[in-house]
Amino acid sequence: MACVPNLPAAVRPLLVISTFVLILTFWFNLNLSTYSFTNAIFDYANPSFHQLESVDETVATSQKTSVDKEVSDDEFAEPSVARQSSNVMQLCPLVSPKLVGWTNLSLAKTTALRKESVTKLIEAGIKPGGRYQPKDCQSRHKVAIVVPYRNRKDHLTVFLHYMHPLLQRQQLNYVVIVVEQSSRSAFNRGMLMNIGFNEAQLQEEFQCFIFHDVDLLPEDDGNPYTCPEEGKPRQMSFSIDNWNNYKPTAANHFGGVTAFSAKDFQKVNGYSNSFWGWGGEDDQLYQRVKFHNLTVARAYAGQPSLVRLVRYKTLSHKKAKPNPGRKLVLKEGSVRFQSDGLKDLRYKRLSFERKPLYTHIVVDIQPYSDRKIPNVL
Ligand code: UDP
Ligand code: MN
Repeated sequence: MACVPNLPAAVRPLLVISTFVLILTFWFNLNLSTYSFTNAIFDYANPSFHQLESVDETVATSQKTSVDKEVSDDEFAEPSVARQSSNVMQLCPLVSPKLVGWTNLSLAKTTALRKESVTKLIEAGIKPGGRYQPKDCQSRHKVAIVVPYRNRKDHLTVFLHYMHPLLQRQQLNYVVIVVEQSSRSAFNRGMLMNIGFNEAQLQEEFQCFIFHDVDLLPEDDGNPYTCPEEGKPRQMSFSIDNWNNYKPTAANHFGGVTAFSAKDFQKVNGYSNSFWGWGGEDDQLYQRVKFHNLTVARAYAGQPSLVRLVRYKTLSHKKAKPNPGRKLVLKEGSVRFQSDGLKDLRYKRLSFERKPLYTHIVVDIQPYSDRKIPNVL
């Protein structure tokens, strides 16, 4: 303490302690900011969204150009406040300031979600059809979430009550589309996804699509539901509670939750329409992705300590019996990559309804009688 010779002896230890605390605080803060920056580097900082098309038809083209330029000059700017006075809405920040992180999902919480009121969600700004866009900034991502569905009412309720607030915290411009299969035939997950894609594009142009099982819930809102870069569809659900206790799934696992740019999904001709019953459609989508030389991305996969941000919890249900015919369809399916899919999609739309929390499309689908495909029902 040579530099403070006049201090009384009793004060000196106090000074040492406070200096130590100061150093510790500084070190801790430094680590925290490094950590949250690391959190941000996957996908939120994806530069390719600048090349993606318009995300909001209500903004005039000339205005969009000027806003885009402004943001690309200063990509890590502080969260912006909308400039209400001019008619131009600023792009939302790269990392949403509304994220809360880990949501602490539990059985009790999902049970409580089932009883939550729809009014509260509508007040948050959800428009009929489960359509939302942030009020105070222009989202960088216009996403259609497509959910294949039949007879899982409880799951759907929990899914909607949980996902809407989470997607809003990510400041996305999004819609939730539930495609329900009528009861006449075996469930066909792939075909329902194709229908969701088709029906969404008939309504509006979406930059990208997230194909989402109704029973999977992301446990942290740091799991990006943003648009994947073109050429890089994203496997989102590769760390799941009931899959080996969150051990990352095999590289070729492509079920659960997957995200595609609209262009990539079109390029691979969507899912096959030929898988009736459980299994196979996701494996064949993976083959299609590989066939077109697209790269499957997994969020934070190169950063093992951050994989916890992309964990999923499953809502429980009776395990479906796998369809034994799927292996044959999978084996000989590659000859039909170009025909079987979006290009030969046929379905009967029984109803289309904009419900308060989702767009509800009910369809009747049947195996094509004029095409020779293995009998897999
Ligand atoms: N699904 C549905 N009703 C069914 C079968 C499947 O709604 O009778 C949908 C639902 O979105 C579900 C997804 O298809 O999450 C995948 O099916 P399932 O959960 O049976 O497959 P898992 O991946 O659990 O084996
Ligand atoms: Mn399931």
